[in-house]
Amino acid sequence: MLQPPHSSLQVAAVPAPRVPVRDRDQDAPWHTEAVCRRDEAGLFFAPSKEPTAARLSREEAAKRVCARCPVMVECREHALLQPEPYGVWGGLTAAERRVVLARRRRRELELKNTARATGRIAAAG
Ligand code: SF4
Repeated sequence: MLQPPHSSLQVAAVPAPRVPVRDRDQDAPWHTEAVCRRDEAGLFFAPSKEPTAARLSREEAAKRVCARCPVMVECREHALLQPEPYGVWGGLTAAERRVVLARRRRRELELKNTARATGRIAAAG
């Protein structure tokens, strides 16, 4: 199983992902270039009972690390595809990833509906 790029100390406190990481991700080169491989400050995952102000501050600090990471796009897509339920990945919090996924689902539905409508028009014409 692919370990998150963040420090193993932090990962140990986080529940395992709900969905197993796909085989192709296990050798993903992006993982080896992760800036956060040694997350000694514990920025990427919330400790238990973290106050909101502390969480917001920690997440912003994690995002600043992500912003200078050469594999941010790959990391973000990985987290969206799994989906990773916890922590900051690819510059997005778990809540932000849920918003992105909801938008993608809505867009896919709109495209399907458009394709269906276009097919009906073509069949009628
Ligand atoms: S984008 Fe952020 S979470 Fe992802 S590997 Fe880079 S530093 Fe780590």
